[in-house]
Amino acid sequence: MRLFGGRSKESEAATDQALERTRRSFFGRVAGLFTSSDITEETWESLEEVLIGADAGVQTALEVLDRVRARRPRRSDELRTMLAEELTAILQAASAPRGRLWGLPADAPEPERPLIVLVVGVNGSGKTTAIGRLAHAYQQEGRRVMAAAGDTFRAAAIDQLQEWGRRLDFDVVAQGPGADPAAVAYDAIEAARARGHDVVLIDTAGRLQNKQNLMDELSKVRRVIERHVDRGPDEVLLVLDASTGQNGLSQAQAFAESAQVTSVMLTKLDGTAKGGIVFAIAREFGLPVRFVGTGQREGDLAPFDPDTFVQSLLGDPAATEA
Ligand code: GDP
Repeated sequence: MRLFGGRSKESEAATDQALERTRRSFFGRVAGLFTSSDITEETWESLEEVLIGADAGVQTALEVLDRVRARRPRRSDELRTMLAEELTAILQAASAPRGRLWGLPADAPEPERPLIVLVVGVNGSGKTTAIGRLAHAYQQEGRRVMAAAGDTFRAAAIDQLQEWGRRLDFDVVAQGPGADPAAVAYDAIEAARARGHDVVLIDTAGRLQNKQNLMDELSKVRRVIERHVDRGPDEVLLVLDASTGQNGLSQAQAFAESAQVTSVMLTKLDGTAKGGIVFAIAREFGLPVRFVGTGQREGDLAPFDPDTFVQSLLGDPAATEA
């Protein structure tokens, strides 16, 4: 699947499949509302429950429904259309690119080489897998990738990244456990420049003793990058496990504060019924979701597209009419 350059039939199908659980357990109920003839107070209450239940967040749910109500839908098909529009609008408002990845947006100018992507997130969110998948996608675009094993807190994280590098044939710069992550990032950028690589993907530690440590470490990595290439990282990608629900939001907040996150990769969407979390991320943090993890395999990563996401979430009303 093409990760860069927007939606495709393939990415629509992958998103649709990954959203199956969310759609079935929560939005499946909404589909029923869309096929009933009248819009009653009960309809609004059910919609509220469904949105909050899917972890869209209370504020977000109420705000969306207020907007839809104000437009006074008369029939349930109008209700579906308006709800889809308002939900999409939330995602679109946050999707203005701040960082830069190649091909995102498709008409973006070529970034300076090497493109530097800092990948942050708590342990277990799928960070290493994310780097492997991104590396793979860049390789498919003909880009040469260097990864930096910056999670020096855990020996296993270094091994795991090296294993991905061996398997997919991209270079990994690593030092021993306990090494200074900023030094690893520095080495990786240096090596990428010397060897003419296009992209540097930098892994970072996901768990430090406290937020201050995390903040200090991430800002040190950032400072080293800034000194070295005269600009900050081109993208700071927060990897967030979709199934952590509201807890994921406080994680997002901690990282947004300490790492100047520019976008989100939402992993494990396939394993959760809480896909509504994207609305809370967009509305509460104004962060665009760039990618969604759609499964366990190497290629199971899809570009995120607001319209595709919302249409998949709300299901096809025609399919429930029978
Ligand atoms: P890290 O600690 O953040 O580096 O997390 P890992 O990359 O090691 O991933 C933790 C687990 O989540 C692994 O078993 C991955 O296979 C799994 N995983 C990552 N992304 C996805 C996804 O999108 N869907 C599913 N189902 N599993 C995923």
